[in-house]
Amino acid sequence: MIELAPGVHALGHKAGGRVHAFLIDAGGELSLVDTLFEGDARLVLQAIDSLGRAPSDLKRIAITHAHRSHLGGLAELKRRTNATVHAHEWEADIIAGERRAQPVTILPKQSLKLIPFQLGLRFNRPRHTPCPVDETIDEGDALGPLQVLHAPGHSPGHLAFYWPELSFLIAGDAIATWPEVCGGWTAFNLNLAQHTVSLRRMAALEPRVVGVGHGDPIVDGAAEQVHELAA
Ligand SMILES: [Zn+2]
Ligand SMILES: [Zn+2]
Repeated sequence: MIELAPGVHALGHKAGGRVHAFLIDAGGELSLVDTLFEGDARLVLQAIDSLGRAPSDLKRIAITHAHRSHLGGLAELKRRTNATVHAHEWEADIIAGERRAQPVTILPKQSLKLIPFQLGLRFNRPRHTPCPVDETIDEGDALGPLQVLHAPGHSPGHLAFYWPELSFLIAGDAIATWPEVCGGWTAFNLNLAQHTVSLRRMAALEPRVVGVGHGDPIVDGAAEQVHELAA
């Protein structure tokens, strides 16, 4: 776990394609964006413990989008914390296990390291433990101190989150830094036109720090890099 800014903690994991989640500590309450890959939620619970906090201090969990790597710990975290689960309406029934995420091509489009994830989406394996979404969220809503941005393209209900005072952006899978810096994994971006608009909106925020779904956060020259990806 690394602290990117006061109250902003990035949780990284090798599994799930170097997947990352973000634990936000503001006003005495914890909020979590995404839940890492593993079903036991151990790393998130350890992170909460290392802040000297209890699982019950986690008040809300938001899911950027319903791809497997980001959902792993959700059901267990709900059970352990009773946090309110938030997602965009379009992703909610996938998270609840009532519909599967849209498959993508299994042909190589980028790094061969991504083929296992393309196959996983095609064959819906491994599945996540379903978890109902308590409240849907959309553009203009708030999640603790974070503003909710609807940033579709990677998936229709893909969300990003922005903390203006810290100039901190959680881009979700709209941007990745593993296996390379890119505007999301090419094979997975369902709608390129929407995705480009979302990247331009993120660039216009001129973020100082950008947390991404896969790979390390961008802490140097973040705004410039997002502008390059949006161009
Ligand atoms: Zn994704
Ligand atoms: Zn992902």
